[in-house]
Amino acid sequence: MRLLIGFALTIICLGSVVALVIYADTHSFSSSEDLVSHTEEVLLNLGDVARQLDRIELNGRLYQSAGDEAYLRAAQGATVVLNTVLLHLSELLRHSSEQRQRLVNLRAAVTRLTAAVDILTPGRGSVREEVVNCRRVLNSMQEAEETLLVQRQAEAERSDVYGLARRIATVVIGAALILTLFGFLVRDAVRRQRFEEQISDTNARLISTVQRLEEQAWESRLLIAARDEVALCLEVKDAEQCTVRYLGQLLPGTAGTLCITSNSRQMLEDRVSWGSPLGRLPEAFAPESCCAVRSGRSRWRRPDTSVVHCAHFVGLPPERYLCFPLVAHGETVGIMYIECPTAEIAAATEARENTIASISQMAAMAIAGLHLRQKLESQSIRDSGTGLFNRSFMEVALDRELQRASRRETELALMMIDVDHFKEFNDTFGHEAGDLVLREVAEAFRVGVRGEDIVCRYGGEEFVIILPEVSAEIALERAELLRRTVAELSVRFHGQPLRQVTISVGVAIFPRRFETAEELLRGADRALYTAKRRGRNRVVEADSDNLAA
Ligand code: GH3
Ligand code: MG
Ligand code: MG
Repeated sequence: MRLLIGFALTIICLGSVVALVIYADTHSFSSSEDLVSHTEEVLLNLGDVARQLDRIELNGRLYQSAGDEAYLRAAQGATVVLNTVLLHLSELLRHSSEQRQRLVNLRAAVTRLTAAVDILTPGRGSVREEVVNCRRVLNSMQEAEETLLVQRQAEAERSDVYGLARRIATVVIGAALILTLFGFLVRDAVRRQRFEEQISDTNARLISTVQRLEEQAWESRLLIAARDEVALCLEVKDAEQCTVRYLGQLLPGTAGTLCITSNSRQMLEDRVSWGSPLGRLPEAFAPESCCAVRSGRSRWRRPDTSVVHCAHFVGLPPERYLCFPLVAHGETVGIMYIECPTAEIAAATEARENTIASISQMAAMAIAGLHLRQKLESQSIRDSGTGLFNRSFMEVALDRELQRASRRETELALMMIDVDHFKEFNDTFGHEAGDLVLREVAEAFRVGVRGEDIVCRYGGEEFVIILPEVSAEIALERAELLRRTVAELSVRFHGQPLRQVTISVGVAIFPRRFETAEELLRGADRALYTAKRRGRNRVVEADSDNLAA
């Protein structure tokens, strides 16, 4: 802005200077010219004086010799003209003192000449002497004026050349100044343009940074929400669904599947999906069929970067997908399979890979934690050999069921079961065969009772089954059915058939004969003992007598 104002002021000043110079030059030139033409006019008038003097002399002579009055009048007329010219000359020479002095002399001479003409008579008198006087003064005036003319002409020429030089110099300096200022303006404009480019560049970077930060903030909020929700899940299934829901939100346009390592740790199982994945995964597949599991880190399959496909597809694999291993405590808990239908969606997914990694890690930790919890829970209430409830759980469950039966005024049966001559299996075929028999018998019990019945391993080869809301008749029927089922089992150990497995069962009914858990257990145990005594492989209902015995 300052430069622009300076530029405008300079233009105005320069314009004024140029105008002044041109005006001054023109003025001095015209005054020189005026002086020259003034001197020329003076010379012209002096020439006129000379001509009138000639006329006076000639007509004076002619009048003297011829006596013709016409010549006298002509001479007198010439004096009149001469005086008029002198008047004009006195006007022209009013500024030149020297010439004015000469003019005074000339006028005096002319006055004398006029008087001489007036007294002229034919054959007498003469004007010659006065004319000579006049010519002498006139000549001096003409010489002075001619000298002056030469001087003024030279001066006019000089001022003409100087004026031209001044004008050229003024124009050149002005042009140089304008060009310099214009150069500054151009430099300023270029700098401003560069500055504006830098500003727009910085603005663009700022906008993209703000967008990235907003996106990161959104991803962080999503991550926190996912973490909080997954942490609330008590079931592995819920944690899986929650993880997949948040991944679907994080990666719009994608589809995918969460696969979890099975309990056996042999296979990856297809658990939950989002979107509609094109690449179909089998229900279960070997972990090694996934390149991500093999490499131990996330892996992209894209036409431009990697050609090799994972081997876990039923049918044709899609073009672009990402497999993300879920690792917790150094163990692969599963994989996250993410499918991207277009290159743009793949690029957006890649930009959020860190957040995917965080969600995957969080899911892996949560799922591993829930698996561990399930395992610990089942270990604390279940028997590891048979998978049935253990004795301590049975005791708690029995109290709870007895209270419920009292409240509802229903009956409850308790079976105490013992495998007959079980020791022989151990002795004959070894402990492993004994364990196998126990597992088979336990499985027969599990299958042979209702969902609400509680099958427990009481210890060794002894079992307790609690049957809520059941009558004595039905309980005995059920015990008989279990006995028969076990007796019909054909257990093979290393391909070799073992001998028949039989059980003895004691059944005690609440509240018909027994009112407490202790009484029930003792009654059932006595009945079992009775069954053993009566030859095993049988069911005996406990009665108060048993208890007494
Ligand atoms: P009875 O008909 O009188 O019940 O004879 P039995 O041989 O079944 O009874 P006994 O109490 O003499 O033997 C029980 C054996 O069960 C003793 C023990 O070594 C064995 N046993 C207990 N728990 C297990 C187990 O978890 N696995 C195996 N293989 N054997 C077990
Ligand atoms: Mg026993
Ligand atoms: Mg036994």
